[in-house]
Amino acid sequence: MKNLTPESSVALLRGIGEVRLRALGHMGIKTLSDLVWHTPRAYQRRGAPILLKDGVLLDDTASYLLTVATQPTSVRMRGRLTMTKFRAFDESGHTDVVFFNQPYLKNQFKVGECYRFYGKLNVVSKKRLQLSSPAFDLFTPFTELPSIVPVYRTGKDITSKALIAAINQALPAVLPHISDPIPSEIREKHALLPLSEALAILHSPRDEASLSSAMRRTVFEEIFCFAIGLSLFREQDSSLPAPTFKDCSLEDLTRALPYRLTNAQTRALSDIAMDVDEKHNPSNRAMKRILIGDVGSGKTVVAAAAIYLACKNGHQAVLMAPTEILARQHMQDVAPLLSKFGIRTALLVGSMTKKQKEDVYAKLTSESDDGIDLLIGTHAVLNEKVTLPRLALTVTDEQHRFGVMQRAALRRKNRNSHLLVMSATPIPRTLALSLYGDLDISLIDELPAGRQTVDTFRIGERHRLRLYGFIREEIQKGGQAYVVCPSIEEEIEDIEAATLKNPLAISSERPPLKAAVEYARELQEEIFPDLRIAFMHGKMPASDRDAVMLAFARGEIDVLVSTTVIEVGVNVPNASVMIIENAERFGLSQLHQLRGRVGRGTRKSYCFLVSDFKGEHASLRLDTIKNEHDGFKIAEADLAQRGPGDFFAGSESDALRQSGAGIFRMASLCDDTELLSEAFEAARLLRERDPSLSLPEHAPLLTRINELFTVTEDTIS
Ligand code: ADP
Ligand code: MG
Repeated sequence: MKNLTPESSVALLRGIGEVRLRALGHMGIKTLSDLVWHTPRAYQRRGAPILLKDGVLLDDTASYLLTVATQPTSVRMRGRLTMTKFRAFDESGHTDVVFFNQPYLKNQFKVGECYRFYGKLNVVSKKRLQLSSPAFDLFTPFTELPSIVPVYRTGKDITSKALIAAINQALPAVLPHISDPIPSEIREKHALLPLSEALAILHSPRDEASLSSAMRRTVFEEIFCFAIGLSLFREQDSSLPAPTFKDCSLEDLTRALPYRLTNAQTRALSDIAMDVDEKHNPSNRAMKRILIGDVGSGKTVVAAAAIYLACKNGHQAVLMAPTEILARQHMQDVAPLLSKFGIRTALLVGSMTKKQKEDVYAKLTSESDDGIDLLIGTHAVLNEKVTLPRLALTVTDEQHRFGVMQRAALRRKNRNSHLLVMSATPIPRTLALSLYGDLDISLIDELPAGRQTVDTFRIGERHRLRLYGFIREEIQKGGQAYVVCPSIEEEIEDIEAATLKNPLAISSERPPLKAAVEYARELQEEIFPDLRIAFMHGKMPASDRDAVMLAFARGEIDVLVSTTVIEVGVNVPNASVMIIENAERFGLSQLHQLRGRVGRGTRKSYCFLVSDFKGEHASLRLDTIKNEHDGFKIAEADLAQRGPGDFFAGSESDALRQSGAGIFRMASLCDDTELLSEAFEAARLLRERDPSLSLPEHAPLLTRINELFTVTEDTIS
């Protein structure tokens, strides 16, 4: 193995054949440098081994130092399952060790060898213990086993072991060539490790202290680069002119509304009018504004008013939503209002036939009576066949689904249009300034008068029968109910994230999860055989999810059991009960979003947080939700309780985060608000001194930012 460089292909590494090469490729890993940047997504604390007799009392994962007592045997079980099993012991007792569907492990373990096993000890019977599918490392008097073990995102056809072996080969080839994007004086000032050192530690942490400095360094870097990138970005495209409007009076529109706008809505609208009015914006600077408001604060009508202004001045507008059902909902809400003023609206979504779509494409360019002024749709509106010759305004809804990159790509596509984005995630102003540094902000921090609050209760298992009775009553009265369960995948992710933040977070009291599929079946068969129950989860194709959601909206389903996929902006005013199972598993903002799905109509509504969990933090969260109904206040509490990490996690699209290409790989795990402001402040100072990053010592920084902020066409799809 000679002459490996950071740009060398991973194919040159030992152990990487064609299959693994492809697997790595799928994960976006092509070069040795990519490998080194593939940092762990969590860490397991394997800690000091304990004795079997102590493990019996502990309902949790732990490490055991055990000697193999019998030769492993493999037996075939039901279906395709094979089980490999042997006995092992320590000074306090013995246990069975079992693995499923890994028959090759039979030859791994030899009688008399000692291993460190990491897993959960189950008590099968009084005399019989079982350690099921534990992680294991061979132990000899000369080996020192790491106590903190990194957990990587892996893929099909590549195991952690193979990945780690590859990373270990790549590190010595890459680290010496890494140039640090953070200038040394800033590193010194903020006590940050050099990048190469931090990367080495992230891949094999020696102890908690060094791991935490390595993380601090990487989080700082991500936020620092993000802040600088955003501000550069913002300047770059503020040069694009957009058509400004002559007539910005809104009276006719507001008179047509069945209600009075709230003060907050009026303020947001005058912000927008100032941005687009030719009297106030003679240089035709494009508006780039985000509307941040709680669920139900009435963002749609503000967007509709902006669209009204554009169309009234002879322009076209686009309104883009993240899902088909939301797009259809906007069509229903917005089109009738605007049609009163002769504004012609069309819908464009993926499920339409080719012919229907072509029809829309044609009308968009038509100059005659069959033309279109407003196009409402999903990502389909970004299709290259879509041309709006008179486009002046782009509105995107539920912004938190689109990351900063998509925003940029969208702007690039609609170069000379004003941009208005709507986010239903209320966030504290300090964070809003950070996350949306490329946009101006209008907060809608007021709900329309007379909004009912959703009565919220914390209940436990012992109330379950009464809860079911209550649901039945509500449904008999004509209401509908949501039941939300955490998904199993979320569970695993969550535990790992929790261990990373706090090694003690996995508590032995963790309650069993209500798995959504199983639960829906149980409700239908055993509890509500006479009611109409449906089930929805994130792995279902979007079109199937939309179909279920539509049926629920039409009242054809009484109880909708689902994972958190209903979170985004769906409006079913008739739904009056929200039940959140394992409520301790959800973050504050998420709980608030979920509760916001009910109480949207005239029906008195209720939210039940089901949890028997006794943990202190979870308890604090549930109490906050129970007592507080203002989204902005809840977000403040979230920031105080959990740190800014979760806001970062939510700010990137799922796709970006999964590929690991997101900007916030580490920041999403950050629980240090102080660090955030430090990094932003450092970024601001640096930009003041060197606005275009032209000083030679800032070259590595510029390179890194260009890497991070490269927008490609597929960023948006
Ligand atoms: P969100 O901000 O969550 O998108 P919507 O725009 O969907 O909220 O508004 C929620 C509901 O509130 C809609 O039914 C809308 O008609 C109504 N609404 C909006 N503004 C007002 C207002 N000023 N007074 C009364 N009702 C309003
Ligand atoms: Mg909305």
